[in-house]
Amino acid sequence: ATDNTILSVNNIEVIYDHVILVLKGVSLTVPRGGIVALLGANGAGKTTTLKAISNLLGAERGDVTKGSIEFQGEEVQALSPNDLVRRGCIQVMEGRHCFGHLSIEENLLTGAYTRKDGSAAIKRDLEMVYDYFPRLRERRQSQAGYTSGGEQQMCAIGRAMMAGPSMILLDEPSMGLAPQLVEEIFEIVKQLNEKEGVSFLLAEQNTSVALRYASYGYILEGGRVVMDGEAKELSENQDVKEFYLGVG
Ligand code: ATP
Repeated sequence: ATDNTILSVNNIEVIYDHVILVLKGVSLTVPRGGIVALLGANGAGKTTTLKAISNLLGAERGDVTKGSIEFQGEEVQALSPNDLVRRGCIQVMEGRHCFGHLSIEENLLTGAYTRKDGSAAIKRDLEMVYDYFPRLRERRQSQAGYTSGGEQQMCAIGRAMMAGPSMILLDEPSMGLAPQLVEEIFEIVKQLNEKEGVSFLLAEQNTSVALRYASYGYILEGGRVVMDGEAKELSENQDVKEFYLGVG
């Protein structure tokens, strides 16, 4: 990996329950400051790839049995998920995972739990998150479980921002949301990328929106990368149009 690469996944294989081979040699790189899309149908292996990177497969009886993963030039497979968060790589899980009984603000503050730079810096970042997500500022005292799906997705991304990340692994941010909200969330992701310098690896089934915001994309099928390229190139590719964009 060069200095321009923040994340590199090198030919990883993942097996669940010692027998179910799900990733069959996946490689990808994310340039520093980039937005990269990981595309593919339901079950292709997108979530497994993200969890392999953040070391969250253990809870699902999954193992990386081959290959290597480097974040900021450092091999990360031996690190705990918390160590990885401290180094600046945060996963936002599919399904949002806000604490439903806590307020939006309390949820955001839980994102700062690994930080040691004091309450003034945390308060400043809370304001930064509210500036990007004005809806969260409006709803700061609301119990997260009673806010909308879009607000919970924003809360999950905002909470990740509270850890001071250099990279966010974002799993299906569009899931279950109306098109206009999807657009609103991707616009904010773009702002976080451009202004805060956060790199994103974005798993999405919504190929068309992902390719509009990412600069590069990988398409997974059956646990293998079957195609990759510049986002513009992919969105003009005939097979991608037919199978993933629903136009012939
Ligand atoms: P989705 O959009 O549903 O998240 P995905 O592309 O992220 O799809 P994965 O969730 O990574 O796909 O799943 C890839 C394959 O691994 C699927 O065939 C799935 O059934 C299988 N799988 C996922 N989790 C487990 C598990 N804990 N044990 C066994 N098999 C699993």
